[in-house]
Amino acid sequence: MSGKTQRACAWRLKKSSSATLRANIDRAGAQANEATRARLERTLPAELLAYGYYRFAEHLLHLDAMQRAGIRIGANQLTAFEAAGLVALHRARKTFEGNHPACSACGQRQHNRFGRECPGCGAKFRQKRA
Ligand SMILES: [Zn+2]
Repeated sequence: MSGKTQRACAWRLKKSSSATLRANIDRAGAQANEATRARLERTLPAELLAYGYYRFAEHLLHLDAMQRAGIRIGANQLTAFEAAGLVALHRARKTFEGNHPACSACGQRQHNRFGRECPGCGAKFRQKRA
């Protein structure tokens, strides 16, 4: 898997986890009719990469979560492939966080950098003047 593919995979997982979306659809569609369930199914993003890429990205997210929780993973415990994947994940996260800043009041990620009001708490954002 190239670094570019790793970044793309990490980005897609970060942006919208199919497993999370699937769980939401299962919950929302439990009492829905067939047409509604089919419509919800169509909202799932197409998986553009082979299943193994997503499994590897999930492994990287697990390693990253352990590191964020304070569990030390030494460089000698990671393969070069995992280390490169963690770097790609870090870059994808930075890009995501740059494009979706957190509300300073409630912490909710915004849809983009240009919103005037937080959809979570209603806090108004100051606009930078040119
Ligand atoms: Zn907010």
